[in-house]
Amino acid sequence: MEQLQKFTKDQIKIVTNAVAIAEELVSNHYKMSASEWLRPRYDVKTLVDLTPEEIVYGPFAQIVRYEAHRKDTSLGSSIYDFYKICLQDHAIDAALQASPPMRLFPFSIYIITHELIHIVRFSKFLQSFEASPEARMKEEKRVHSKTRKILSDVRVAGISDVLKFYRNWRMPYEELQQV
Ligand SMILES: [Zn+2]
Repeated sequence: MEQLQKFTKDQIKIVTNAVAIAEELVSNHYKMSASEWLRPRYDVKTLVDLTPEEIVYGPFAQIVRYEAHRKDTSLGSSIYDFYKICLQDHAIDAALQASPPMRLFPFSIYIITHELIHIVRFSKFLQSFEASPEARMKEEKRVHSKTRKILSDVRVAGISDVLKFYRNWRMPYEELQQV
């Protein structure tokens, strides 16, 4: 397999900080308390932790849905959806190279906020994971506009460069995969 560009340790630190900020923004927006919040129903991973099936070419992330089994229950079967946000380091890096002055930190905040909104909407049944391509396209527009709204008054250096980048973004939506 071709060697893909992975984030460095420093970049992973930046992304980890971006995850924390995106989680806070999305939980505030949806007014979700800690108990309603989706942890541990999702996780965010970068290329170094992805399996070959979790790697895609083009999108900045893909969401993989796993069926998880709760162990600590005596109430019979307890299956729940677990979402893995698979960040595609190589695609993110390529976009940063091609679009100065965009920076990794605000860009990651956008990407992760966007993916978390998808997951909140799946888990609230506002959108089906198995929607038709037309419905997914509509959802993608909705999620982008919500992401923009959430990030529009966030004070993070460089966020306006990211919003500008996405204004002209015409890539199709990210992949969804059920495992
Ligand atoms: Zn999306």
